[in-house]
Amino acid sequence: MSQVIKSPALVVHTRRWSESSKIVELFTPHGLVRLIAKGALRAKSPFRGVLEVLNEIEAVWHVRETRGLQILTQATLLNSFQDIRGDLEKTAVAFAMLETLQKLLRSGEAFPAFYAYLVQLFEKLNKDAQTPPVLYLWHFLIRFSDELGFALQLERCSVCHQVPQEFPVWFRPDTGAVVCGKCASPTESTPYVELAASEYRLLTQLQRMEYPAPSVPELPHQMHRITGFLLKHLAHHTDIPLELNALKWL
Ligand SMILES: [Zn+2]
Repeated sequence: MSQVIKSPALVVHTRRWSESSKIVELFTPHGLVRLIAKGALRAKSPFRGVLEVLNEIEAVWHVRETRGLQILTQATLLNSFQDIRGDLEKTAVAFAMLETLQKLLRSGEAFPAFYAYLVQLFEKLNKDAQTPPVLYLWHFLIRFSDELGFALQLERCSVCHQVPQEFPVWFRPDTGAVVCGKCASPTESTPYVELAASEYRLLTQLQRMEYPAPSVPELPHQMHRITGFLLKHLAHHTDIPLELNALKWL
């Protein structure tokens, strides 16, 4: 029995499979799908220019259960996000998100709401000339942790259950919980990450926002530290190391 599926998809990763074919990994509302695009490397292939990482496409593929890898039969370009591609920082941020998905998602887990969120996030990033692109990455990482079932518990101190008033606060990547400045007695043996008041406020504000907006407060100086600890939180809970190539461009 063979079934035909037609679905929107984001191109997450591609690699050469044979002389003329590619394997493409797509993030779709059905989850992560890995397909062979036969002849995609030939000069006259209709797949040329369509199966590029970051493109949103409409893909058609056949599912035959006896086959390990399914075959992509059609792909139409829906959006190539030209203004993301024209900006190195936006590109790095978008590719970092796709790399995270490729590393952490397994085939067969469907995320329809998260797919819709990500496409919108890319559409907004594409048009946004004001918001620092890295805020999009942080928003994505916060939302993705939530989607996978280990949301950051930032709003209240996990010890006194109050909204933190004293800073710095201390975040534990393993539990996702925060401890306020009054309750904390971090020692070297506990894996706390220190968050200054500005960093803490920015992250809680981002977590509450449906999408990033330029109204968030000033960016903290140590941007890579925040990216690092959000990735560490995800890596801790999935047991998958997250060294993202795309972050080298930031
Ligand atoms: Zn407290």
